[in-house]
Amino acid sequence: MRVLFVEDELRLREALCRGLGEEGHEAVGAATGTEGLQLALQQRFDVIVCDILLPGVNGFQLVRQLRDRAVWTPVLMLSAKDGEWDEAEALDAGADGYLTKPFSYVVLKAHLRALARRGSKGGTAPGREVLRSGDLMLDLRARRCARGGTDIELSQREFSILAELLARRGEAVAKEELMRKVWGADFAGDPNIVEVYIGYLRKKVDAPFDRHSIETVRGYGYRLAAAEDEAVHG
Ligand code: CA
Repeated sequence: MRVLFVEDELRLREALCRGLGEEGHEAVGAATGTEGLQLALQQRFDVIVCDILLPGVNGFQLVRQLRDRAVWTPVLMLSAKDGEWDEAEALDAGADGYLTKPFSYVVLKAHLRALARRGSKGGTAPGREVLRSGDLMLDLRARRCARGGTDIELSQREFSILAELLARRGEAVAKEELMRKVWGADFAGDPNIVEVYIGYLRKKVDAPFDRHSIETVRGYGYRLAAAEDEAVHG
């Protein structure tokens, strides 16, 4: 298991990295949020453990920026017991787990194992690098989108929306969920923005190929038709 520890408390960071290292895992430490974010974007990890209060980019900003760039590595958020943040906020920001300090090493390891398992299974897309539905392909690492071998240029938001839909193709994804994941929990603008971006996506991903893969689920959200269904419905 390859773990990134973003933690500004030197002793805790070193103890955890050493503990995991002794058990044959690879642990990389980062002392600031900024450094952690860079590492998380550049290298591949099975799990990221991230403190909330950090110098530079804080834990919430870090996880949001990762999700915004379609990096789905599972994140376990650490928080002080008397911290002003709660578990709901951590999960809303895009974290996959939450642990209150002080915690026991055994409990931490159980969380890491659970998250690493979830990551390797797929989940919302964690661990998966290329998402496909029929001839539509999204390469999360290279941030490339193509249909039938034709490259499609997408903006960051368009890419993130399509990644969400594609990761759960065939399922309806709520508009609010897309909004929260792509624009962030604290986005206070017009919720119709999602519709606007779905329109952009259809113009790029469907219309030029005479397809209708991005469906509207009235009163709820959107669904990317699984390639099989699409064929049946023409
Ligand atoms: Ca801290």
